[in-house]
Amino acid sequence: MPRVKVNELLKHATENRYGVAAVNTLNVETVKYVIAAAERERVPVIVQFYPGFENYTALKHLAFAACDMAERASVPVAVHLDHSNSFEIAVKGIRDGFPSVMVDGSALPFEDNVALTAAVVRTAGIFGVDVEAELGHVGSGDNEDDIVNSDHYTRVDQAVEFVERTGCGSLAIAVGNAHGPYVKTPNLDFDRIKAIRSKVSVPLVLHGCSDIPQEQLKEAVNLGMSKFNIATEYFRAMYQAMEKGIASGKFDGNAVGLMFDIQEDMIGFVVEKIRLLNPNKFSL
Ligand SMILES: [Zn+2]
Repeated sequence: MPRVKVNELLKHATENRYGVAAVNTLNVETVKYVIAAAERERVPVIVQFYPGFENYTALKHLAFAACDMAERASVPVAVHLDHSNSFEIAVKGIRDGFPSVMVDGSALPFEDNVALTAAVVRTAGIFGVDVEAELGHVGSGDNEDDIVNSDHYTRVDQAVEFVERTGCGSLAIAVGNAHGPYVKTPNLDFDRIKAIRSKVSVPLVLHGCSDIPQEQLKEAVNLGMSKFNIATEYFRAMYQAMEKGIASGKFDGNAVGLMFDIQEDMIGFVVEKIRLLNPNKFSL
């Protein structure tokens, strides 16, 4: 199956009322588990990579492996570069083979975010690359103010203007979500999601989905959000699967055996997330 474009996939998801799991990966194995889970559930999925991990896996290597595995998959798989917080990082991602990139200017003043995002959209357009942007600032789950202070949230009027002026393909919004483990259970601002969804034409993205209560994620899907980023919980699942395998004593120093052993737990984790994000039971 040919690899699909993120924008097309998210439009399809928006129209068909399901949420796409966008799972952060680290290496070939973590890409493989995500695709295997999507194939079991018969739904599309997004494989993504955080450029901050480039000192572990080169952008070019991850992009190549993920795109090649996407093309061999039996369900639509899209490949995306997460949080590029400068023009240079986004363009490097394009150069190194990512068919979709996020440019994150959310920490900048509004006008600077517009200028950065518009510049990346123009450049990406030359290469046929999709662009996700962020408005409002999705902060860190270990900072309570980032979660509860609505001054950081996306403003509806600004979202409309931002999408029009930048031409971004999808928009990450801040609605009480945050990155990493949460110090306080998040309480998503559903009224704001509804308002943004009704005014903005492009698909909407929720970052920081790890540990958001299940009912809230389902509600976000039903309100029309389309892309759900999952990193922290996925990497935690990998740690726990390895810990369980080592504690079992079955492998006696055999790392290869351990890697084979963790596959089911990892695929199972993604399957659960995919089901959660598909409350209306869409299937290919
Ligand atoms: Zn994020």
